[in-house]
Amino acid sequence: MSRAARPRDAVEDERPGNDRPVATPMPWLEAPLARALADVHSHAVLLQGPAGIGQYPAALRLAAAWLCEDDAIAAAQRPCGRCAGCRLVAAGTHPDRLVLVPDAMRAAHGEGAEAGEGEGGAKSKAKPSADIRVEQVRAVVAFGSTTAARGRGKAVVVFPAERMNAVAANALLKTLEEPPGRVRFALATGAPGRLLPTILSRCVSIPLLPPGRDEALAWLGAEGVAAAKGGADLLDASGGRPEAALELHRDGVDGALLRALPDAAGRGDATLVRGLSLPLVVGLLQRLADDALVAACGRQPRHFPQAGFDRFASVRRRDVARLTAWAGALLEAARTAAHPWSAELAREALLQQAALALNPPQNRPDTAASRRESATTLPAR
Ligand SMILES: [Zn+2]
Repeated sequence: MSRAARPRDAVEDERPGNDRPVATPMPWLEAPLARALADVHSHAVLLQGPAGIGQYPAALRLAAAWLCEDDAIAAAQRPCGRCAGCRLVAAGTHPDRLVLVPDAMRAAHGEGAEAGEGEGGAKSKAKPSADIRVEQVRAVVAFGSTTAARGRGKAVVVFPAERMNAVAANALLKTLEEPPGRVRFALATGAPGRLLPTILSRCVSIPLLPPGRDEALAWLGAEGVAAAKGGADLLDASGGRPEAALELHRDGVDGALLRALPDAAGRGDATLVRGLSLPLVVGLLQRLADDALVAACGRQPRHFPQAGFDRFASVRRRDVARLTAWAGALLEAARTAAHPWSAELAREALLQQAALALNPPQNRPDTAASRRESATTLPAR
């Protein structure tokens, strides 16, 4: 899980030394945030852009700025990081701030549910929800109905906003239409297309753009993923989105693995990905399938280093149908990857499937799967 996908105040709390608790380390967010603070007076802001470029830190930062109590500086310069409000935000104890994230995001970092605890909350034995629950959204009404403790109004952060189901989204919509008290909302999403149009229309949209390559690499280096550790390879594999690259690194992927994966997939060898979670393996293979399709059309692969991809110099336009079918099968696999019947068997099946897709029929490696010519899907659960 990326830094941006971390719960509550982890973003601020984990700054080395924590001396600038509300300062964002992502310079590419500065301009859009300054614009949101200086020009937007709506009670609802939607920060949107490609996933993995800092939506969550941006939303936390915006909320912190709204709650900052330093009147001596311009709005666009808040949060100051020094006032009492900023210190409470940094400590995660500001009474006028509510952060709605899925329980699974909190659980991944050993925290319980926050808003809307109770039925369906993380206290139950059930698997923590990957969605923002309707109980959490309803808690906003109770949160907004009391007087702000520090006189700056209240701030609600919602991330990832697309992780609200229809019921939760409709509950939020009612709240956005008739905000309880002086409540402002910072919604953040990497998938605005999955939000209800009515929610989109209630928010002022602030687009976030991915950083340039040098800026992204510098940020990754500061986060401990130097170029020597495969920072550039990770960034490529993540489509230039630095937070997503950091997430790959934290999940155990490095440059060497990325360089070796195309060849391993071509051989149907799952050894390389043995230690990776199934959703991650599916995600990497999806990028490989994407690259293979691009290569089959005579263009440069985007995600994997060219050196590793030379293995598939033989893919041609005639292979597009087979590769497209593979991409479709991976999409299906992505739906069930979080609940594998056996992660080890599933990883092996996925890599054999990759070998079938990546090799023209006449030079497939001699694997059990290649002998089972029709085996182009995962075994049934
Ligand atoms: Zn402040």
